[in-house]
Amino acid sequence: QEPFPAPGRIRVITIANQKGGVGKTTSSVNLGVALALYGLRTLVVDLDPQGNTSTALGVDHSVGTPSVYDALVGDSSLAEVVHPTTATPLLSCVPATIDLAGAEIELVSVVAREYRLRRAIETHLQELPPEQRPHYVLIDCPPSLGLLTLNALVAGDEVLIPIQCEYYALEGLGQLLNNIDLVRRHLNPGIAVRTILLTMYDGRTRLADQVAEEVRNHFGSLVLDAVIPRNVRVSEAPGYGQSVVTYDPGSRGSTSYVEAARELAQRGVALPPLPSRPTPGA
Ligand code: ADP
Ligand code: MG
Repeated sequence: QEPFPAPGRIRVITIANQKGGVGKTTSSVNLGVALALYGLRTLVVDLDPQGNTSTALGVDHSVGTPSVYDALVGDSSLAEVVHPTTATPLLSCVPATIDLAGAEIELVSVVAREYRLRRAIETHLQELPPEQRPHYVLIDCPPSLGLLTLNALVAGDEVLIPIQCEYYALEGLGQLLNNIDLVRRHLNPGIAVRTILLTMYDGRTRLADQVAEEVRNHFGSLVLDAVIPRNVRVSEAPGYGQSVVTYDPGSRGSTSYVEAARELAQRGVALPPLPSRPTPGA
């Protein structure tokens, strides 16, 4: 297994789509595992109170577990809430507990509430020794455009949007793109949509092809060539506290996620370093 190439800078990727059930969590988990299996240190931040990302990575997220809530609303550092995963050694996770459900409201009265996650991540990256700095930070967003997703858009350098190859796939996307625009103009000038991932593609239907073509016409080269098929192994894996990449490496769900991760990694090589951000060591 040839390792994936390291990115030109630490990539903080926000995985967002305010629609539920489009594959945000599945993509955060499986891209994260694939990047780490192929040699890139990766941190997945679970920002959904459901905690499904934490579950799939085998990370405890029962109430009382140090979690992203403590960094967002409390004053824990990210280092205090990062957990190793059972999936693979280079992958760690900041879990989400159900406490996070209250954060949308609790954050309203917090100073610089839109910047909480960004500050936590930046401080963490600065404080880690170079050989422990992640190459990738993936943030799994909840299915809404509230303060949690806003924090994730302010924290990221780039957005990855999973789009389900189904009816109404593009519905609501305008609203997300509008929000990203607002964030770029007012809060985080660096943010941009850099990746579109087609998910739950069913090759037997004409509809899936039509949606895929429409998305490619609209987003051009932002769309990864790799497409994630609808595959029952993908939906089984979380029940075993696993990603599909570790649960059934030979399945089409797994191989397509590895391909998508490889493409993501290859595209990352050309990114210039950010002056404000440290670089990882070997
Ligand atoms: P989101 O995080 O956007 O709400 P999820 O990643 O949780 O979406 O996916 C929604 C549901 O679809 C989950 O039950 C998941 O297991 C299932 N699923 C996701 N991707 C696939 C796929 N490629 N094939 C089959 N089922 C999938
Ligand atoms: Mg989710």
